[in-house]
Amino acid sequence: MDDVTRRSLLQGGGAAVAAVGLIQEAQARTEAFGPTDPYDLIIRGGEVVDPSQNLRGRRDIGIRNATIAAIEPEIAATRGTQTLDATGQLVLPGLIDYHAHVLPGAGIGLSGDELVPYTGCTTYVSAGDAGAGSFSAFKHFGIAQSRTRIFAFLHISSIGLSGFPVGEMLNIDHARVDAAAKMLAENPEVLLGIKVRETLDVVGNNGLEPLKRAIAAAERSGVAGARVMCHIGNAPGNLADLLDLLRPGDVLTHAYSGAGNNTVVNGKVLAAAIEAKKRGVLIDVGHGGGSFDYTICEAALQQGFTPDIISSDIHSYSVNSPGKPFLPWVMSKFLNLGMPLEQVVALTTAAPAKAIGRVPKLGTLQIGAPADLSLVEIVEGPVDFVDTRRNERKGQRWIKPMQTVKAGRPFGRPYPALFNWP
Ligand SMILES: [Zn+2]
Repeated sequence: MDDVTRRSLLQGGGAAVAAVGLIQEAQARTEAFGPTDPYDLIIRGGEVVDPSQNLRGRRDIGIRNATIAAIEPEIAATRGTQTLDATGQLVLPGLIDYHAHVLPGAGIGLSGDELVPYTGCTTYVSAGDAGAGSFSAFKHFGIAQSRTRIFAFLHISSIGLSGFPVGEMLNIDHARVDAAAKMLAENPEVLLGIKVRETLDVVGNNGLEPLKRAIAAAERSGVAGARVMCHIGNAPGNLADLLDLLRPGDVLTHAYSGAGNNTVVNGKVLAAAIEAKKRGVLIDVGHGGGSFDYTICEAALQQGFTPDIISSDIHSYSVNSPGKPFLPWVMSKFLNLGMPLEQVVALTTAAPAKAIGRVPKLGTLQIGAPADLSLVEIVEGPVDFVDTRRNERKGQRWIKPMQTVKAGRPFGRPYPALFNWP
């Protein structure tokens, strides 16, 4: 057995044992209480939409010790130390933004916590904000201080996105395979894989070499299931060549970009794109400030090239762009493209949670799940949407974030008591 194989077996086995331990721990925390013990928080009166258990209906949710402890047609308000009124609102598993930029104050990063009133997100995945040269700082000064849960793709460029707008892959020497592989191997609980951006302004004359190095780093890390998230836009080269390199489980982000090297040409989805989806490459939206074209997306949806994950690509530039890439607004676009609400919710909760694969029951409201919830309202009425290429569409409804709960604690008011006063 070579070293890499040995290490991936150990890592895989360790993760499985840890997952079983976490499930047992969550159950123990729930079972330690009697039937009349109070809940820390009850969310009352809302309509629960949880695609992980095919559930849509009026339910109250009891939360105890940061865990979903009860989900019932009615739980009396008197049973809760604190209650949230969700009347008229949908109660969703905490939204997960699988492509965001949440390393605040560096490159194009924003504070995930500050965004919560607009995103309703309880979990973000940083899409390559940090590279091997900056990840430790991100972990200690960003992730460790965040209330929202953060996972990350490590950029194959050791400078991450700190050089923005100067392309981080113009100098191929920044793509250090061994350094990236080592960082990934040392942080498998938070790093999901390697990020790479493949557009002309980012890679210059380096073609697909950054992507090849990203794949090499993921494989050399020995971390079982380490993914590569590849951004596309304009050039370089033929998109089919790029798509053919992606492995099952890798992520194609900006899948509906109209920036030049598109997945849809003359109204038809590329055969290589269909093939990629078929072999298990995850199709991710990554709307952003320049990466979502209605004409591409509409053709793709009609031809079965549907997203596996809906994400925002929110960052300090896209946040102020006309396409408004806040996750609930991007979800609203898909809702108005005819995607059923349950599927829109699944692609922003259970689906990205499965792709993260680090936390049992994340992205669900099942008993024992982490008490992460997004309460939203469906606002009915005519609404105008615009993509990143100034194509306009009319819609009939939109999703408005109202309240967000992370680990059983609501963001903002009303503040829970931190201490029991005598
Ligand atoms: Zn991005």
